[in-house]
Amino acid sequence: MIRNLDLLRTPNYQKKLSQCIHCGLCLQACPTYAVFGVEMDAPRGRIALMKAASEGRLETEEFRETFTQHISLCLACRACETACPSGVQYGALVEEARLVVERNRQPGLAERFLRWLGTKQLMVKPGLLKGLAYLMWLYEKLRLQHLIRTLNFLPKTLKAMEAILPPIQLKFTPLGRLLPARQNPHGRILFFTGCIQEGFLSAVNAATIRVLQHNGYEVLAPPNQTCCGAAQLHLGDKEFARQLARQNIDVFLAVGECEAILNNAGGCGVSLKEYPHLLADDPLYAERARQFSAKVRDVNEFLAANLRVPPRGRIEARATYSDSCHLRHGQKVIRQPRDLLKMVPGLQLIELSAPDRCCGSAGVYNIAQVDTANAILDAKMEDIAATGADLIVTSNTGCYMQLIAGVRRAGLKARVRHVVEVLDESYAAD
Ligand code: SF4
Ligand code: SF4
Repeated sequence: MIRNLDLLRTPNYQKKLSQCIHCGLCLQACPTYAVFGVEMDAPRGRIALMKAASEGRLETEEFRETFTQHISLCLACRACETACPSGVQYGALVEEARLVVERNRQPGLAERFLRWLGTKQLMVKPGLLKGLAYLMWLYEKLRLQHLIRTLNFLPKTLKAMEAILPPIQLKFTPLGRLLPARQNPHGRILFFTGCIQEGFLSAVNAATIRVLQHNGYEVLAPPNQTCCGAAQLHLGDKEFARQLARQNIDVFLAVGECEAILNNAGGCGVSLKEYPHLLADDPLYAERARQFSAKVRDVNEFLAANLRVPPRGRIEARATYSDSCHLRHGQKVIRQPRDLLKMVPGLQLIELSAPDRCCGSAGVYNIAQVDTANAILDAKMEDIAATGADLIVTSNTGCYMQLIAGVRRAGLKARVRHVVEVLDESYAAD
């Protein structure tokens, strides 16, 4: 008995499926097609699988395995959505297909424990995540990391998790405290810290706040905000993702007027912007979700339109920008980070040959599909190496951590930074 097949049979889903005209123009944009070269690991093939599944073909064991394999290998990067001339909403299609896969899988005990620990404990309990960050900080400071990497004995999944651990800096955001503007205030920003972002990349959050203050904004990170719900949704727990969305909506709308609700992670940002879709059938929250999402902006999007103080401090660097898929394809924020970087004196920005190509991070993909994620990462690092960049800039938590692993894997001498860190460094050098 296949559970939740009805998700693929709604008139809305069928309409979205029928928009595909099978032209194949999306194939070359797809990172998994580049790795495997087979139709079933390309958007057109996956759409054919979704259609067949909706028509009842999931009943055979063989088809069930094929469907599970190829849908699970999709990064949900949505590069195909940008490439598609027919306007196919692939992101919405694959979201439901993943739910069907996840709700019909029977993960082992270890996987179930890791999922529970990650998505129901660490990501939603900031105290626990900070505790883990302290432990990881000690792990790095006491050079245990060096030892573990030298001994190289970890099993594949743990090794993949360890590889993306960034240098930890314990600069946590003060929640609930109004941080003043550094000049005449132009308005108040409500800051969404993110969960992993705040735990493992708190220095990026600190830089974001400084850059906003420098530009005349007071910043408040409301307490009791929680994870955006993206990981939970991708792992099939839609109800829990909805619960987290309601909590964020309540917390942020309760504060009142603001210029914007800002975040600095492309993956979280697209989830926050899509709360109206997630809560569309919730009579109490559908309208509140729209009010909330109307205020949500990525920090690049906001600063490109509202930068009051141009960065004047020189940064002598050969830089390249690696797009976050969720920022580029999900939010269509493409020009803004580049415009901001081009303002920094001394910084030379070199475009990648395939800037729209995923780095292999994709939520938990780099842990769940280690080999494919590494193949995709290697292609990205080759592209980066060809630019000769000594500074790799990005705008998303997962990409940032994945690129740190990529630099080490490829043996490059380059640092990884968020756009706001580059601006912050330039302001500090002025
Ligand atoms: S979302 Fe990304 S990986 Fe999935 S089919 Fe589209 S381009 Fe390929
Ligand atoms: S998803 Fe779009 S680009 Fe890809 S085959 Fe269908 S219509 Fe063509």
